[in-house]
Amino acid sequence: MKEIILCKYGEIVLKGLNRGTFESELMKNVRRRLKPLGNFSLKSAQSTLYVEPLDDEIDMDEVFDRLKKVYGITKLSRAVGVEKNVKSIFGAAYERFGDILKVSKSFKVAAKRSDKSFYLTSPELAAQIGGMILEKLPHLKVDLFEPDVTIVCEIRAEGAYIHDIAEDGAGGIPVGTSGQGLLLLSGGIDSPVAGCMLAKRGVIISAIHFEAPPYTSERALMKVEKLAAKMSEYCGRISFYTVPFTRIQEEIKNNCPEEYFTLIMRRLMMEIAQRVAEKNGIEALITGESLGQVASQTMAAMVTTDAVCRMPVFRPCIGLDKREIIDISYKLGTYEISIEPYEDCCTVFTPRHPKTKPVLSDVEKAQAMYDFEPLIAEAVENTRVKNIKSY
Ligand code: ATP
Ligand code: MG
Repeated sequence: MKEIILCKYGEIVLKGLNRGTFESELMKNVRRRLKPLGNFSLKSAQSTLYVEPLDDEIDMDEVFDRLKKVYGITKLSRAVGVEKNVKSIFGAAYERFGDILKVSKSFKVAAKRSDKSFYLTSPELAAQIGGMILEKLPHLKVDLFEPDVTIVCEIRAEGAYIHDIAEDGAGGIPVGTSGQGLLLLSGGIDSPVAGCMLAKRGVIISAIHFEAPPYTSERALMKVEKLAAKMSEYCGRISFYTVPFTRIQEEIKNNCPEEYFTLIMRRLMMEIAQRVAEKNGIEALITGESLGQVASQTMAAMVTTDAVCRMPVFRPCIGLDKREIIDISYKLGTYEISIEPYEDCCTVFTPRHPKTKPVLSDVEKAQAMYDFEPLIAEAVENTRVKNIKSY
């Protein structure tokens, strides 16, 4: 019995003239994600993508799991293929739905016939299969409007397909349809969530991480790479930039007033990130900040960091509670990695009394006590890049 997977598009359907671009990005993403698993035929018809394995030994559970992580797909169902005769179709339908029908009150059979040469019309096929089910399970009622169980039978050129119950996909729009963003990725819970939220809206994600060895360890960096690899199950391949940040942090500590340490550090991170972005044709920055979560994430603090930014800064977690962010990270599978212990450069020189209502001119004055420009240029120059993907 051959199995195929049907993927329903979500918002792509609303895209009018741009629809072609959205569909072809989605196809490209699906093809890339499934390539390591074997050969497939992909066909698009009626807002549905049909994924059909061409090799015998393909692990369809793995295919289904991967497709559930592709943005742009709202619903997925598996369908088994059988021979095009009523006996086989009933057999497959009963095998798949028998257990649930036994504990249900009503059902309907929905038949679709794209192969018009089949010897029954769709209503005839539905009636016959429905009749055979009622014979086996006479407690059931047929309800065409609000059935407990719907069994979909589809007659196509190459065979008949019985559809499984549809599951939720990742939703959103395909990665590659909304430009490129550079995610400031720490080892925490919030930033991976922020990156995936924008990938869900079609943004190609690159990541930049600031390390401060020997204050931060090699293990901490490996943890962040592991997070990026997990994210790539959703975002696709990620260009991962690592910035050596130790000198800058030491000079902040040696030259600037303590209460401004974090704010100056964040302004320098933004400056370096946007230079790396500009060099690589990336159009926006993304952070995992959430309003009021810590001293550096008050509105006044963000005003002082945004003051150095020449490109849009997206903060998709801004209005989410920690609990809500955790729920998303749990679903993405990043949570388990994020809670592993690690040191972040942010916490290396944390001020005892950070300013929560900083005034921009005061921060600028504090930062001007040292000429950071040569160190910024050096950090950008020494930034390393590697590709990260999980498949
Ligand atoms: P997260 O859980 O994402 O670490 P957080 O609540 O710990 O967030 P902060 O440590 O204040 O918040 O950092 C705020 C944001 O700054 C992070 O979401 C991330 O986008 C960025 N950031 C923090 N540290 C780093 C780092 N070492 N490298 C890159 N970006 C960082
Ligand atoms: Mg953090």
